Amino acid sequence: MRVSVAVSHFLEKHRYEALQLKAVLFDMDGVLFDSMKNHTEAWYEAISDMGIPCTQEEFYQYEGATGKWTINCIFRRVYGREATASEIEEIYIKKSRYFNQLPEAVPMPGAGELLTKVKEAGLIPVLVTGSGQRSLLERLKRVYPGVFSKSHMVTAFDVSHGKPAAEPYLKGLKKAGVFPYQAIVVENAPLGVEAGVAAGIFTVAVNTGPVPTEQLKQANLIYPDMLSFAGDGFDELMEAVSL
Ligand code: MG
Repeated sequence: MRVSVAVSHFLEKHRYEALQLKAVLFDMDGVLFDSMKNHTEAWYEAISDMGIPCTQEEFYQYEGATGKWTINCIFRRVYGREATASEIEEIYIKKSRYFNQLPEAVPMPGAGELLTKVKEAGLIPVLVTGSGQRSLLERLKRVYPGVFSKSHMVTAFDVSHGKPAAEPYLKGLKKAGVFPYQAIVVENAPLGVEAGVAAGIFTVAVNTGPVPTEQLKQANLIYPDMLSFAGDGFDELMEAVSL
């Protein structure tokens, strides 16, 4: 019931006739991998090294954005200016080094099941991540083999304006060759949800981190974790869109 109501609200708002699902656009960190704790720890270490006061929690708020966006956000707050290209490079290299020293993030429980269902339903899985971590992208191929083709991936290297801008998700649609009413977005972060909604795509939030659910309320549907969406959630959605 809740699912079909969410679908009709979405259709009304955008004046779409129907959701004709052809593709599912997946965020990576906090959706396919339980990697956000590692990211926040690596950011915390790299930014603290610069003598800048910060907390590990605040990096959940910047999740989904590119490294450059995050660093500029902190620089504006602390120094009242944007960071230079070399400052950004220095901090991002440090952050990547700390990140790669941490134990490998495990696959998100439920993600494998959801990807299997998506493939079985004949939908195109598309990766849309703000990450530029080559190690995780390699790992994606290893952990979920044969799921994401290279032509169906949007990473930090593909966009000029990352999440919360709509560009990454619009690029994802383009790569899959579909319109906004032919896809859904699966996201866990407030900025990522904002990006999916801005792209005019039905956005499902899975709250896999410590962010208050209130911050995900722009999403069309919210689940407490990936397992609950991968289970009944996805089946109910498929049923609601085929009505
Ligand atoms: Mg995420």
